[in-house]
Amino acid sequence: MTIQTPPFQKILIANRGEIAVRIIRACKELGIRTVAIFSTSDRNALHVQMADEAVCVGPPETNSSYRNIPNIISAAEVTQSEAIHPGYGFLSENAHFAEICHSAGVVFIGPSPESISLMGDKARAKALMRETGVPVVPGSIGAVASEDEGMEIADEIGFPLIIKASAGGGGRGMRIVHAKDGFSNAFQSAQTEAYQAFGSRDVYIEKYFIGPHHVEIQILSDHDGNVIAMGERDCSVQRRHQKLLEETPSPLLTPSVRSKMSEIAIRAAKACGYVNAGTIEFLVDDKRNFYFIEMNTRIQVEHPITEQAFNYDLVKAQILIAAGRSIEDVPKSIGHTIECRINAEDPWTFTPSPGTITRMIQPGGPGVRIDSWVTTGSVISPHYDSLLSKVIVTGRNRDEAIARMKRALSEYLVEGIKTTIPLHLTILDDPDFIKGKYDTGFIEKVMAKRE
Ligand code: ADP
Repeated sequence: MTIQTPPFQKILIANRGEIAVRIIRACKELGIRTVAIFSTSDRNALHVQMADEAVCVGPPETNSSYRNIPNIISAAEVTQSEAIHPGYGFLSENAHFAEICHSAGVVFIGPSPESISLMGDKARAKALMRETGVPVVPGSIGAVASEDEGMEIADEIGFPLIIKASAGGGGRGMRIVHAKDGFSNAFQSAQTEAYQAFGSRDVYIEKYFIGPHHVEIQILSDHDGNVIAMGERDCSVQRRHQKLLEETPSPLLTPSVRSKMSEIAIRAAKACGYVNAGTIEFLVDDKRNFYFIEMNTRIQVEHPITEQAFNYDLVKAQILIAAGRSIEDVPKSIGHTIECRINAEDPWTFTPSPGTITRMIQPGGPGVRIDSWVTTGSVISPHYDSLLSKVIVTGRNRDEAIARMKRALSEYLVEGIKTTIPLHLTILDDPDFIKGKYDTGFIEKVMAKRE
């Protein structure tokens, strides 16, 4: 991708935390001026200090600030921003917001509202993928209309199964059912929970895999119809279905499975007319059969491992694609990369640990990248997610990457709040992790070993 004149003069970043900082960095390298938005509790946050301009969009509650569409659009208009980058979370997968940006004459840096709403309805997305020849997790085709229909599907696919909210995300709105007698209750409560959390009662049913691997493919596509796959990320180290540590390449995949998955992911992206950066998520069993679960139509938290492994800036690519530039260079993977998510949480109970960071020293040195928004004195608010920073290390091979991550985390000093660093150090010392033998049930086993 050749950079001549800046693709935009000014971009508003509709987010906070480390991803807002990350996007500002990309804009600076492209010669683009930046506008931060902030809530009253984020007045002194790093993204506000780093941006050229900043606009307060409301009080700490996210519905009144970071999800407040009228205030954000007004901020873009007042500052004459040409484009909005939504980051992840908040409004990033809100088709209505993308549409409003278009009608306000502001470029939404992401896919079309149609692609967002199609893939945001997970039951519909799965049905489309199935039609396109993408292998999907066995289960209902589309949303399940009634409990009776759900029961028929349950009889077909057997137990355990999982009931998911069609509009769900972030690991919420999922119910695992182990036997027939638990089905009715689970179905009804899943519907109610789906409605309360996402405003839609639609649910769908899937076979529940025991100990699968979560492997996802990074996709990049432009307005000229070029679609490329940029390798995989293994995100199987999870607790309560939330990712904790990610790596690329995946220790599970073989070159032939990788290229098959990439080919299928490209097909999936083409099927929904996808433009910009996106991720196709798969569950993979021990025999390396893979099944589509969902597509994320935004930049992912874990995107830096792909960036480091390929020496390629995905956020800059998103901006250039949104400005109509085409993808020219297809990068080649050059190393092994691991990311650890450092959350403000008790490392063993995962209860949030908000408060003030009284002292912080972040790691550095060869092969270490820190995507962070905090420093000594930062206040961690209970209103927002608990992600403080991401430590991303790259080595010539997996062993070097693991040694480097242990070294980096041992340098990391955080006082005043609890973090997930001790858990990460335990994972990195685990013999199964070192052998690359882990699945989504891994953290539970790590916890059991402690008891
Ligand atoms: P969300 O979008 O809410 O994060 P996903 O569909 O991406 O939900 O699933 C999140 C995680 O839940 C997966 O990475 C996996 O660990 C687990 N999961 C989802 N579907 C299944 C399934 N059918 N069988 C086993 N585990 C699953």
